[in-house]
Amino acid sequence: SEQEIVCTGCGVTIQTEDKQGMGYTPPSALERDTITCQRCFRLKHYNEVQDVPLTDDDFLAILNQLGQTDALIVKIVDIFDFNGSWLPGLHRFVGDNQVLLVGNKADLLPKSVKQNKVIQWMKKSAKELGLKPADVMLMSAEKKYDIDKVAEAIEQYRKNRDVYIVGCTNVGKSTFINSLIKQFGGEEEELITTSHFPGTTLDMIDIPLEDGKSLFDTPGIINHHQMAHFVSQKELKEITPRKEIKPKIFQLNEGQTLYAGGMARLDFLQGERNSFVCYFANDLSIHRTKTEKADELYENHLGDMLSPPGKETAKEFPPLKRQEITVKEEKTDVVISGLGWINVSEAGAKIAVYVPEGSHVTIREGII
Ligand code: GDP
Repeated sequence: SEQEIVCTGCGVTIQTEDKQGMGYTPPSALERDTITCQRCFRLKHYNEVQDVPLTDDDFLAILNQLGQTDALIVKIVDIFDFNGSWLPGLHRFVGDNQVLLVGNKADLLPKSVKQNKVIQWMKKSAKELGLKPADVMLMSAEKKYDIDKVAEAIEQYRKNRDVYIVGCTNVGKSTFINSLIKQFGGEEEELITTSHFPGTTLDMIDIPLEDGKSLFDTPGIINHHQMAHFVSQKELKEITPRKEIKPKIFQLNEGQTLYAGGMARLDFLQGERNSFVCYFANDLSIHRTKTEKADELYENHLGDMLSPPGKETAKEFPPLKRQEITVKEEKTDVVISGLGWINVSEAGAKIAVYVPEGSHVTIREGII
């Protein structure tokens, strides 16, 4: 049988097949004297953190551990996928530990968005999901907006305790940790280590803090309801906003339908002529049609006219699930987690929203 090689950094079993998986090492690296997994190698040589997906058992082990420590928990969510990037169950495990909730990717919000309204919405949503954060903040890990403020808040709330950074995959946790490391800079970089996360074979990054405590980067957790899991990597790029979102405005009469690619659909069932302002990735095409023709259009054109998903992905794409909503207030956002949102201008519209089974639709007060 094959001899098992383990990483000299974190102890994980080395493998050369699955680039995204735990312990991946390029075959050429097996020639080296000391063998480390790619994740530890990058960390050591470039101070770069890579994320590794995680199974549900490991997720539970992490949650359990968080409940047993006395620490500040910093939970990162993607504000474009608030529900999809939420970690269900975290609030039941955190015990008495305070949670600092940080919404990432604020750089993608149109300039006209009032950040305070986004924070209010995050607070309200967190509460509805059972979590009462000590504070809620926004940042852009990539553009480095407000990283310093988040670092200050961490310092303020941790009160000489350890810090655990948690988040599901794709929220920008690695980007954030990398920004933090650069921010701390200096000698501390050399003191960064990896160790096993208790009860798992997963490694976590340990960044030493001035008072002898540590800031731990926990492994990224997969949330199976993320829109990201329904599409290919290439398609994910098309639905993920990369630049500040430019709204697209549609004046609709009842009996009209909008498709956001083939990923989501909105029918205007009943109400006076109304405007629907779409906030999605700038490259995602919005298609308007008559509601009576909408089903047929989807059957015949999912994967071409209505894409993403592309032709291949369309074969496996989950059926869209319909829900009816009556918009009670003017300027209401219909939020499609992982995709964006549609602002309905006037109150009283009756609509139906369709998204792939498992992904979330929520309503909020308009943030603009
Ligand atoms: P992780 O899986 O949580 O560690 O996420 P990554 O740090 O790998 O980031 C996931 C994706 O989100 C990458 O494509 C990043 O470029 C992107 N990303 C991370 N932070 C930001 C941000 O502040 N703004 C934007 N627009 N994208 C970000």
